[in-house]
Amino acid sequence: MTIKTDAVIVGAGPVGLFQAFQLGLQDIRCHIVDALPYVGGQCVELYGDKPIYDIPGIPLCTGRQLVEQLQQQIKPFAPTLHLNQEVVSVERLPSCELDIRTSAQHHFVCKTLFIAAGVGAFQARKLTVEGAQAFEGTQLHYRLGELAHYANQDVWVIGGEETAVSAALQLVQQTQHTPRSVTLMHRRDVFQAAPELEKAMRDAVAQGTLKLQIGQLTALHGSATNTANVSVNAAATSSAASSEARLQTISIATATGETIERPAQQLIACLGLSPKLGPITQWGLAMERKQLMVNTETYATDVPGIFAVGDINTYPGKKKLILCGFHEATLAAFGAAAIVHPTRKTLLQYTTTSTELHRLLGIA
Ligand code: FAD
Repeated sequence: MTIKTDAVIVGAGPVGLFQAFQLGLQDIRCHIVDALPYVGGQCVELYGDKPIYDIPGIPLCTGRQLVEQLQQQIKPFAPTLHLNQEVVSVERLPSCELDIRTSAQHHFVCKTLFIAAGVGAFQARKLTVEGAQAFEGTQLHYRLGELAHYANQDVWVIGGEETAVSAALQLVQQTQHTPRSVTLMHRRDVFQAAPELEKAMRDAVAQGTLKLQIGQLTALHGSATNTANVSVNAAATSSAASSEARLQTISIATATGETIERPAQQLIACLGLSPKLGPITQWGLAMERKQLMVNTETYATDVPGIFAVGDINTYPGKKKLILCGFHEATLAAFGAAAIVHPTRKTLLQYTTTSTELHRLLGIA
């Protein structure tokens, strides 16, 4: 299905969210796409519970609280969110409109595009063990996903961050789709999780509902589904008949130097996320040191109709601060108004006094 709209925003970080607000004030409707399954960009992904002190008018808030406030602020304009998908291609149509496609096969035709992609799309760090790719999506996952998928199986959650601890707890605390066993594995007995979450994890281990393994995954062992009980090396199956490989056991190098083999039918690797600039470099936009070059009048790129705001852009004196991104988004929205509403005069109006802005904001 093709969605026709005035504007698409790539990135639901703080600047992408505020861009939606500023576009709303210019009477421009938009859709927002983000690679993550939630909004907030770096504020939520990298420092959700840490304090920010330099947002004007807010002496102190956490990353997550700022994002909650931004979501509240954009409510009157109800931008449609398309999460868990990357914008993969941007092309210009003969009509001069922009043709935007996402990894989830969403297709937009729009007049303006706002790239608020920060440091890139956050993607899960992958397991580097040989042959891992053969099991991806069936027995190896980078997010917990549906709990039903793990029923009656030996599940291993790998990682020492909060997402790993939380995934392991969710698996043992639910009663509907009980796995045969759940083991949390990390290379050290040190976890980067909130104290209450870590305590719940340690309690579950003490009660025997969750197993804890200190060690490192060294090999995956599968067997071909069409040849019962034939053990094959996962690496060998990955190139030939990956769809037939079934993970059965894993090898672990323990903290005491032994190598042990344990049953495992499901792995959830929570190894953190890393940003990848990815497809943005292929959209034909002028770049300097992996950042999009913009003019500071409207934060437009060198391609008409495409703007770049927030951490993704560069210009003389650029500072990667949320406050600066908010300013850029404001001027970019004025720039877009001239394209989306070419016959209207773009006047500066105050939200305090403008009845037109009150109408747009839904204020009686
Ligand atoms: P991001 O927050 O990076 O959001 C970009 C979003 O775009 C991401 O969610 C990403 O998944 C998405 N994306 C990228 N490419 C694609 C694609 N192709 N398709 C779909 N989605 C895509 N700044 C301050 O002003 N004050 C502070 O106190 C402060 N503290 C900080 C503390 C830390 C630890 C860090 C790391 C940064 C801090 N910053 C602070 C910087 C601030 O977080 C950034 O300036 C801000 O997040 C930039 O916002 P953004 O919306 O441009 O990008």
